[in-house]
Amino acid sequence: MLRCIAVLDGSIDPFSLVQANVDGAREAGATVRNHCRVASMELEEGAVVRVKALDRRSGAAFSIAPEVVVNAAGAWAPQVAAMAGCEVAMGLDQGSMLVADGRLCGAVVNRLHPPSDGDIAVPNHTATVLGTTSRPAASPEDVAPSHDDMELLLRETSAMLPALRHCRVVRAYGGVRPLPGEGGRGVSRTFSLITDERAGNLLSVVGGKLTTYRLMAEKVSDWVCQALGARAGCRTRAEPLGPPADEAGGSVALARLRRKYGFKAGAVPLTDQRMLCSCEQVLRAEAQMVLGGPDALTLSDVMRRTRAGMGYCQGLDCALSLLEMMAEAGGTEPLASLTEFLEERERGQALASDDQLRQEVLRRHVLRGVYGLGERE
Ligand SMILES: Cc1cc2nc3c(=O)[nH]c(=O)nc-3n(C[C@H](O)[C@H](O)[C@H](O)COP(=O)(O)OP(=O)(O)OC[C@H]3O[C@@H](n4cnc5c(N)ncnc54)[C@H](O)[C@@H]3O)c2cc1C
Repeated sequence: MLRCIAVLDGSIDPFSLVQANVDGAREAGATVRNHCRVASMELEEGAVVRVKALDRRSGAAFSIAPEVVVNAAGAWAPQVAAMAGCEVAMGLDQGSMLVADGRLCGAVVNRLHPPSDGDIAVPNHTATVLGTTSRPAASPEDVAPSHDDMELLLRETSAMLPALRHCRVVRAYGGVRPLPGEGGRGVSRTFSLITDERAGNLLSVVGGKLTTYRLMAEKVSDWVCQALGARAGCRTRAEPLGPPADEAGGSVALARLRRKYGFKAGAVPLTDQRMLCSCEQVLRAEAQMVLGGPDALTLSDVMRRTRAGMGYCQGLDCALSLLEMMAEAGGTEPLASLTEFLEERERGQALASDDQLRQEVLRRHVLRGVYGLGERE
C-alpha cells in the first residue's frame, strides 16, 4: 500500500432506512400493505382504474381504485409496467456480497481505482460487508453468488483489510441492480421517470442508486402532485426521517440500542434484559418493542429490525424463542413464518465453508428436524 486518502463517505443500515420511510409515510397518512404483491391492472380509456393485489401471507386478494400509480418495483419494474400494457427498458446487473463476522473498519474502505470488483468494505453493526461484483443477470431472481465471486471478493478486500483472512464469512448473497439500457459497470447510475400514453396515470421510476433515493422520491412526488393538481412544494429534502436520537449518556446498553434504533431506543423496555440472540446480543426486550409495532409480521421481519438470527448461528440459538414470542403476541402463522425464515437464511449459506459450514449443518438438523420440515429441494 502506497498511500491512504480519507474521503467523506458513509454507510446506512438499509433495513432501518426502509422502516424509517415506512414510519414517515404512515405518519403522513399512508396505508402500508407489507407482504403484498400487485398481480394485475385494469385499464379504461388509457388509464389504470383498478390494481389487483394479493396478500402473500393469507392468500387474500384485494383491489385498489387508484388516481395515480407509481411503479417503483426496482428490477421488477418492467414486469409491473407490462401489467398495464406498458414497456420499460432496463438492464439487469447482478452483484455479489459477503458478510464477514466482526466490524473490521470504522468507516467505508475503498480501493482507489476506477470502479471494479471487490473494491469496498462497509462496516454494518457487528459485521463487515464486502463487495461487490458485476455481471449481466438473466432475471431479477438471478441473484445467486458463485464460488468465483466469493474467492475474488475475499482476495481483493483482504488486500485492504488483512484481518479478513482470519474472519468467518457468515453469509454470501447477491442482488440485481436495475440499470437504464443494457447495464454493466460502465453504465450511468442515473435514473429516469417513464410515462406511457397507454396508461397515462402510471409512472415508472427506473435506475438510480440508494444514494439518490431521496431525489428520486422528490421527482416522483412532483409528478404525482402535478397529476393530482396539488400545488404543495415537496418537503422531502428538508424533512428529517424521525427526530434525532436522544443526547448521549446513560448505560452502555442504552448507547448500543441508540446506535441500532436511533430515537426509538427509549421505547425498548429495558426492564427485561434477558438475551434472545447471543451472536448479535439482541435482548428479548428489543423483539418485544418490534412486535408491538404494526410491521413485524414474520420472523424475517423481526430479524431485519433487531438483527436476531443474523450472526454465526443464523437463528439456531434464537429462532424458536422468537417464534414463541410471536405466537404469544398473535397474528402469525408459526410454521409458515419459520419455513420462510429458514429458506431466506439458507440462501445465504449455499457457499458456506469450514466452521460456518459445520454450523450450518447443525442448524439445519436442529431447526428443520424439530418441526419435521424436511430439506429444501
Ligand atoms: C450488489 C449491489 C450493490 C449495490 N451497492 C450500492 C451502493 O453501494 N450504493 C448505492 O447507492 N446503491 C447501491 N446499490 C443499488 C441499490 O441497492 C438499489 O438502487 C436500490 O436497492 C433500489 O431500490 P428500489 O426500492 O428502487 O428497488 P428494490 O430495493 O429492488 O425494491 C423493489 C421492491 O419492489 C417489490 N416488487 C416487485 N414486484 C412487485 C409486485 N408485483 N408487487 C409489489 N411489489 C413488488 C420487490 O419485492 C422489492 O421489494 C447496489 C445494488 C446491488 C445489487
